[in-house]
Order: sequence, then C-alpha cells, then structure tokens
Amino acid sequence: MKNKKITRKISQGVYVLTTAGGGCVVDAVSQISAGDNPLISVAVMKKNYTSELLHKNDKFALSVMGIEANMEIIKTFGMNSMRDINKFENIQMIEIEGVPVIEESLGYMVCEIIDKIENETHTLFIGKLIEADLYEDSEVMTYAYYQEHKDELLKVTTEEGKTAWVCTVCGYVYYGEELPDDFKCPLCGVGKDLFELKNN
Ligand code: FE
Repeated sequence: MKNKKITRKISQGVYVLTTAGGGCVVDAVSQISAGDNPLISVAVMKKNYTSELLHKNDKFALSVMGIEANMEIIKTFGMNSMRDINKFENIQMIEIEGVPVIEESLGYMVCEIIDKIENETHTLFIGKLIEADLYEDSEVMTYAYYQEHKDELLKVTTEEGKTAWVCTVCGYVYYGEELPDDFKCPLCGVGKDLFELKNN
C-alpha cells in the first residue's frame, strides 16, 4: 500500500457511544438509510469493553460532541475502560429510552440494534433511530479538528529529558528510545505507525 493515510481524509466525527453499563468514544458513525427511523452504523473495536456490552444490550446512544466539548468527557470515555473505572460517576448522565446518555453535548441519537457485522478488529453495529434530540445547533467536532487541536485540547505533556512517543489518536505517552514493532496503544489500540516522536 503506498499511503494508508489517505483513509484519514474520510470525514469522521467525535461521538460518545453509550449503552447500559458503559461507553466509549467512537469516530466511525454513518447514517445509512433515510426515513423517519433511519439506520445508523457505528464501528466499535472488539477489544473494547463497550463492544462486549453491545453484544448483550439491545440499544445504544450516540452523543455528538461540539468543538467546545468538555474534554473531561472525551478523556473519561476515550482513554479509560469501564473495566477500570466507572465512567458514569463523574460525568452528568441522563437516561433516555433506558440508555444512559451524556447530558453535555450538541444532542443525541438513541438506536435499537438490528444487525451486526463482524470483522477481524471491529464490529459494525447497525441501529434503527428511535429517539433523538438536538440541544445546540453549533459546530460539530470532526475527527480532523480533534487531530489538529488535540495537544491543546488534551493538554498532552511529556517529561523533560525523556524520549517520548505520543499516540496521535488519544495522546497516550510511551517513554523509550524505540517503540516495539508490534506495539499497540494500550488506550485506543492503534499501531506504531500512528505514534509521533517527541524529543525534549
Ligand atoms: Fe492511543
């Protein structure tokens, strides 16, 4: 493959996917049909605890983050696992159609899961929209915007005098001269090619 980075030109967003028992940040969301109850698809990494939950639950919600989103929400849902912390503890949640939904967002979509497609790394969940609201009609945070501003948004800092590799997706910092070839980000799962060297 000449350059896989072209796939980054596919416009994606920053959403918090929630379901009973947990949630995570996702970027790959698409509307795949029209009508009163359109179908929405979302890809979730198989190793995520949220994916396990979605195989048991019948609904999920997507909360849409704006460019002024509270980064605590993205950090809490994007960089931790419900296996380790209770994400719902520090973030204001409301319950809609039996699904915990982030209160602070541009709005939400609640979907009933009607199909799943499995591949090696991800499960594509297809849901039928059953409830939705638009709280605030302002600029949405795209994945490109997040990428461009993530250092200031996440306030990534690295220790002085140490060679650091920073995950360009989630801001995880690895200290060491070289990243092992098979290295995968422990927080978001991406490979070595998505880490950036920071010498300071
Ligand atoms: Fe990461």
